[in-house]
Amino acid sequence: MEEKMKLTMDKLVNLCKARGLIFPGSDIYGGMGNTWDYGPVGVELKNNIKRAWWKRFVQENPNAYGVDAAILMNPRVWDASGHTQSFADPKMDCRSCKQRFRADNLIEAHSKGNQSAEAMTTQEMEEYISQNKVKCPHCGNFNWTPIRQFKLMFETSRGTVEGEKDVVYLRPETAQGEYVNFLNVQRSMRAKVPFAIAQIGKAFRNEITPGNFIFRTIEFEQMELQNFCKEESSFALYEEFKQRSKQFLLDLGFSEQHLRFHDHEKLAFYAKAACDIQFFSPLGWEELNGIHHRSAHDLTRHQEFSGKNLQYVDPVTNEKYLPNVIEYSIGCDRLVLAVLTEAYDEEQLENGETRVVMHFHPALAPFKVAVLPLQKNLSDKAKEVYAMLCKEFRCDYDEAGSIGKRYRRQDEIGTPFCVTIDFDTLEDGTVTIRHRDTMAQERLKIEELVPYISAKIKF
Ligand code: ATP
Repeated sequence: MEEKMKLTMDKLVNLCKARGLIFPGSDIYGGMGNTWDYGPVGVELKNNIKRAWWKRFVQENPNAYGVDAAILMNPRVWDASGHTQSFADPKMDCRSCKQRFRADNLIEAHSKGNQSAEAMTTQEMEEYISQNKVKCPHCGNFNWTPIRQFKLMFETSRGTVEGEKDVVYLRPETAQGEYVNFLNVQRSMRAKVPFAIAQIGKAFRNEITPGNFIFRTIEFEQMELQNFCKEESSFALYEEFKQRSKQFLLDLGFSEQHLRFHDHEKLAFYAKAACDIQFFSPLGWEELNGIHHRSAHDLTRHQEFSGKNLQYVDPVTNEKYLPNVIEYSIGCDRLVLAVLTEAYDEEQLENGETRVVMHFHPALAPFKVAVLPLQKNLSDKAKEVYAMLCKEFRCDYDEAGSIGKRYRRQDEIGTPFCVTIDFDTLEDGTVTIRHRDTMAQERLKIEELVPYISAKIKF
């Protein structure tokens, strides 16, 4: 794990801002807590992550169907899902400095992860904090309010006629958009159970916990798959998704030792099993995704609250039933953070300099290739090569500064290939291609570049 220790959250935040990956939200106004904007480089990385996920779980899965459901839903949806009643965090305020914290996070941080607060009642959490004299991480005082439940859903209002307003919610999760479309998807696509509905979309939570960069934000994207299946096959599917979701991360380049399963100690009353995959980051071990066996709870509740029969009719046996759901959900922004921390490296070079390099999987790299003329008077030829390559890949072009500095800039944003145009290029139509990870260089013909790079960036 030592190599991960080189990276602190501050270093990462600074690098992301300096290199156009991620900026603080509303930056010129002093920011707004827990909001971040993706810059020109970051948006490419995030889109590539979404593409890789969609390819793996939708495109390569004949039983998966994508949707893009509305963010604002009929408020009854949130009654059925239980969110209006109980989607809340246990908060405590420090009476001295007025900062607000989640009681469960205070306990877990105080015990350095040795005490899980997952299964604790409010009273047990208060007792732990009092007996262990857990102090405010901000001002160091021990002066807490009692725990209160803090609602996590953002409310807004919809006016149909002037003066008449209805409360609507910004969705706190994307899953309900898949559940309410269960029959629409099943019938329109003639889908047979088991099948999955997939979605990538924004969710909003009025989270108390301060920052930690994009790990926990109030607006974030989820990528998820709701698998509808028969009860008999549900546990096998649950196990399968634990493995498939881990394999996806390994294939993106995560090292096995930076990932681990965490089985939930406390299950929701309807759940039959639940686990997370955690990743090792500068924050310690943190949840990256969840795999949940949700029984037939969701469709049962929507059937009850909507009054619509949501039963699936088996086309062969005519059996009618509400399927079980195995949910696989991963935060896209959290995966961006995990990819950034996993890819980051600082290398000592022979000349004594330190090279910061992002070892992104080439399929995720924001730019696949950068075109660099050795000197400015080679820029016409370089722009010709750039014009050819940018039809195929997201490319960068840079003619400012020494070639060494330009390589370093590309290393910091993880560009897997740099193509250098020199005077020999004008003579024989060859270029130097430099590899990010090894810094090795080789000579290729210009017309070989597209097939060469295409073969190396596949996921
Ligand atoms: P946590 O325990 O971290 O609050 P959760 O268990 O409430 O997360 P789920 O509701 O299962 O999370 O959401 C699925 C995934 O969405 C999480 O595994 C995480 O990757 C992501 N996620 C949840 N909340 C946030 C957030 N506030 N900011 C960024 N990503 C989030």
